[in-house]
Amino acid sequence: MNWLEVSVAVQNEVAEAVAEVFSRYAQRGVVIEAGPDGWDAGPVFVRAYLPADDQLGDYKRGIERALGHLNQILPVPVPTFRSVAEEDWAEAWKAQLTVLHIGRRIVVQPSWLDYTPDPDDVVIQLDPGMAFGTGLHPTTQLCLAAVEDLVQPGQRVLDMGTGSGILAIAAAKLGAADVIAVDDDPVAVQAARANVAANGVSSVVHVVHGSLADVSAGYDVIAINILARVITHMLQAGLAARIDASGGWLIAAGIIDEQEPEVIAAMERQRLAVAERRQKDDWICLIAQPQAS
Ligand code: SAH
Repeated sequence: MNWLEVSVAVQNEVAEAVAEVFSRYAQRGVVIEAGPDGWDAGPVFVRAYLPADDQLGDYKRGIERALGHLNQILPVPVPTFRSVAEEDWAEAWKAQLTVLHIGRRIVVQPSWLDYTPDPDDVVIQLDPGMAFGTGLHPTTQLCLAAVEDLVQPGQRVLDMGTGSGILAIAAAKLGAADVIAVDDDPVAVQAARANVAANGVSSVVHVVHGSLADVSAGYDVIAINILARVITHMLQAGLAARIDASGGWLIAAGIIDEQEPEVIAAMERQRLAVAERRQKDDWICLIAQPQAS
């Protein structure tokens, strides 16, 4: 099948709103990439792929209309469209990935590249498919390092919005006894299941197609790397109550710096105390704990 790539270069603060518009039409996820000057300066690129089927015209018009509305509030340039053959898309995307060292011991190895590990390495072999979570994005890197710092052998971990499964696999390889990896996107669920199996952690990581309502409580560590809006909503809907009250941790990321106060306020309403704040480029990761009552 052929695909139509839609992309637009926007300022960082507009990127999420544009990504949300694209995600209504894109079947294979939306990516936000740093521009040539990095995440801090200049525009970032929001890209998505639309299936070139008989609804393509409707998708294009829908995107143009929604971006037009957005442009009345925030400046959004006209998007560009480009036809891409399936094979070219897969190859272009693969060429971007390299072996990455993150945190102290974590190594993300794209499954088609060779890597000889050091004895201490925690290697995650990844073929993200079309799901988010290649390890390239600063927000994923912040979460991986936090997972490495917090997850102890034998613990129960929840990875809410697992994407490629990257954080869940890291938790399992760090010794977690039971990891639930949840995503509401079937493409992510498929990619996560394949990656979990390829990493030999299927007996520890259970990938669930669903969302907050599908998970129980009592987790030692919960990682959520989605958007500030989704985190805030889930905090209200009972995410906080699913953290083990005696010493459990929440790792919340996917937050652009200006949205941080909103997320902190939502945490405080749920009696979570922020213990640590980490930042990479414009992205914030908050580490919080239930307050002792
Ligand atoms: N955990 C990975 C992927 C993060 S991308 C990483 O850290 O890199 C966020 C993921 O959350 C996406 O795969 C998306 O499908 C999923 N997601 C978004 N909203 C969700 C919701 N309401 N319930 C469950 N999953 C959701």
